[in-house]
Amino acid sequence: MQTKTVLISGAGIAGLTLAYWLHHFGFVPTIVEKRPNLDAEGYMIDFYGSGFDVAEKMGLIEQLRAQHYQIPKLTFVDQNGAEKAVLDVEKFRAVLKFRHFNFMRGDLETVLYDAIKDNVDIRFGHSISELHPNPEGVDVRMADGSTGSYDLVVGADGIHSNVRQLLWGDEARFARFLGFYVACSIIENFLGRSDAFYSHLHPGSQASVYSIRGNRLATLFAFKGEPMSIHGHDQKMAALARGLAGSQWVVPKLLELTSADEGLFFDAVSQIHVPNWFQGRVALVGDACQCLTLLAGQGASMGMAGAYLLANELHAADGEHTTAFAAYQAKLQPEIMQRQKQAQKLANSFVPNTRFAIWVTHLFMRAAFLPGFRAIVQRQIGSKSIIK
Ligand SMILES: Cc1cc2nc3c(=O)[nH]c(=O)nc-3n(C[C@H](O)[C@H](O)[C@H](O)COP(=O)(O)OP(=O)(O)OC[C@H]3O[C@@H](n4cnc5c(N)ncnc54)[C@H](O)[C@@H]3O)c2cc1C
Repeated sequence: MQTKTVLISGAGIAGLTLAYWLHHFGFVPTIVEKRPNLDAEGYMIDFYGSGFDVAEKMGLIEQLRAQHYQIPKLTFVDQNGAEKAVLDVEKFRAVLKFRHFNFMRGDLETVLYDAIKDNVDIRFGHSISELHPNPEGVDVRMADGSTGSYDLVVGADGIHSNVRQLLWGDEARFARFLGFYVACSIIENFLGRSDAFYSHLHPGSQASVYSIRGNRLATLFAFKGEPMSIHGHDQKMAALARGLAGSQWVVPKLLELTSADEGLFFDAVSQIHVPNWFQGRVALVGDACQCLTLLAGQGASMGMAGAYLLANELHAADGEHTTAFAAYQAKLQPEIMQRQKQAQKLANSFVPNTRFAIWVTHLFMRAAFLPGFRAIVQRQIGSKSIIK
């Protein structure tokens, strides 16, 4: 194989994993990342299934175990804080044979970054502004005016992918809004507990809060809404306040403290459906082409699986991208489509619309680990790995 240079847009979970495996197979990856660093912690994720298997192949399980949050239980509370249902997290982990971790998205990025930082050129604060594919390679112009040429380019730049926007076209063509918004913040620990994990459902909204290291709390808000254009911290906070209006318990306090978090994460919950995951010498991986949303609980895992498969196919085809990209898409896309369908079905229980639907959700949570329900849980969370 002639050494193939690969420019990866995005140092997120998929981009970092792809760089690891490309380097492993003898390619020369370069990453450009628009953020100045990977400091943002993001939100708590469940990590299992395909992603766990890829991490194991990378020899990263012990590093990830060190990041794991031992959460005893998830308690659903009503408007007065009274317990309505309890989910035993260790029983959930047992269903996954304890091949499962909970950590912040940023914790996973840090472990992946540490695994490649000595071998891969990672340029922070950079973004591609022009892509010019030709039969021999791809000419690239960066936002700072610098230029370069690479054999291949991969867009691993997330749900709002820049590479997809530049070559495939407007995001609106590929995004399917699932009818609600999600926001996450990190705030001071006013609950005074180090093992808190609570969720409060109100018709049309959810507010969850959990303890994280450094005596802090992380929040997750979700609320139903029509498509809207939201920009800037103030607009996000205003939309959040409207979406959570009427929700009681400690929600007003969570919102008040969230308004001080300049790193507030806020986004529409949309899946990405892209018919073709590659065009010539340019391919997409991770949320850029396969976004499942938080409902699936496995977007990060499947992003790692996608990156692993893509690198493997390039290796198997000796760098011949046409064969490799087609094989990558043929293997992964049907799995993604099926998991996207499954995730869509969960939208109503994640943010139930009515008090009756909330009651049913609490009932399901109480019954989740009774005999007979285990298979349903396993199917819903997509625990079956696609990694051999
Ligand atoms: C609230 C929430 C909860 C979730 N819970 C889970 C869970 O429990 N389990 C799970 O597996 N998944 C979960 N997910 C999904 C998971 O976070 C995503 O699927 C995963 O982060 C996708 O990884 P990615 O690398 O494709 O994209 P991202 O993580 O979005 O990374 C994309 C990277 O590209 C960079 N970038 C963007 N634009 C440019 C540009 N122009 N130039 C250069 N770089 C750029 C970004 O800064 C970022 O670093 C959750 C998601 C949300 C929102």
